[in-house]
Amino acid sequence: MTKKLYFEDAYLKEFDGRIQERLVREGRPAVVLDQTGFYPESGGQPSDRGTLGGAGVLHVFEDGERIVHLLDRELSGTDDVRSVLDWDRRFDHMQQHSGQHVLSQCFVEVLDGETQSFHLGDQVSTLEIGIGEISDADLEKVESRANEVVFEDREIRTYSVPPESIGSVPLRRPPKKEGTIRVVEVSGFDFSACGGTHCRRTGEIGLIKIIRWDKIRNNLRFEFLCGGRARQDYRDKNRTLLEISQKLSVHEREAAAAVEKTIQEARQSRKRLRRLQEALAGFEASETIEREAGWLVKRVWTEKTAEEVKLLALHIVRLAERAVLFAVRGAERDHFIFACSEKMPLNLRELVPVVMERVKGKGGGGSTLVEIVAEKGPELEGILAAAEGYLKTKLPGLERK
Ligand SMILES: [Zn+2]
Repeated sequence: MTKKLYFEDAYLKEFDGRIQERLVREGRPAVVLDQTGFYPESGGQPSDRGTLGGAGVLHVFEDGERIVHLLDRELSGTDDVRSVLDWDRRFDHMQQHSGQHVLSQCFVEVLDGETQSFHLGDQVSTLEIGIGEISDADLEKVESRANEVVFEDREIRTYSVPPESIGSVPLRRPPKKEGTIRVVEVSGFDFSACGGTHCRRTGEIGLIKIIRWDKIRNNLRFEFLCGGRARQDYRDKNRTLLEISQKLSVHEREAAAAVEKTIQEARQSRKRLRRLQEALAGFEASETIEREAGWLVKRVWTEKTAEEVKLLALHIVRLAERAVLFAVRGAERDHFIFACSEKMPLNLRELVPVVMERVKGKGGGGSTLVEIVAEKGPELEGILAAAEGYLKTKLPGLERK
């Protein structure tokens, strides 16, 4: 049985212990000590990290009465080892976990909402509360009350209660275990049966912030941050908001409205651009048909986008009985756009293998419109010539028309 030093003192950062067992777990060396300050993963709180006799502690977990420390390398030599906790990580967990106790009780107070589950994640923690919905005003009430409890700097005490006295403790939830239970009390505010590590006072939790919520099963799940995480989140969000408002030349409070306005303007501009492109494609198509006699229009484009070229191709085949073989040399890729009038007895899909044997790409389409996107190849003219050669075999009479 491993003695749990973290129960006696959650602020123990270094301790000495004696190796009692050397094991292999999950393919890695592991040890059991006579006593440990490393918290093993349980109750929604992840395990501690740090060093044990100089080796890195990767994971700590309970195995019956023993606590197993998974190490990054084998420990040889003496059984007496000194261990050092990754204190930043542990204190962060204490802030999140203690904040959870406070928040859970606030949900009971404000909305009669019971905690269904808690998870302390790497980035955010989540609380699942047994309520079906919540208004913005109620959410603010819960959050405000939680931070009030922080500002009151209440003591957080831990003590054991024998089974016969459990009835006298106003526990938020009935205990899961029988026998003597460990009670964590946020002085006069919340009483929980809990085996985790907690701050000494609520002031140490720092800011408690709910950042988002969503529906899960029939409950609501809240994502929240406490202490150092909330500060980092505030820092990041402030920086992002400042960047956005500076780019839009507005005050931060007007940023959302300014973004909305910019989106609307961009939408209008796109519509207008589309109309102009359509009109331009119509003019260019008429002009192309007038200028170029014969059944085929063939060209490699470098200045137009694939979208513009496709629009032009569609206009040409709508206005005249022509086949169009266009290639577009883009900045990143080559595009092939083939189109023909519905009156022509052609199936342009047959051109896909003709192109594919010369480029690396993918594409397809119908009998009158084919699009292919390809990695940039050396020679677009040659590919169009090959496609033209193929079409000529299908339309022997058209060349003279
Ligand atoms: Zn707890």
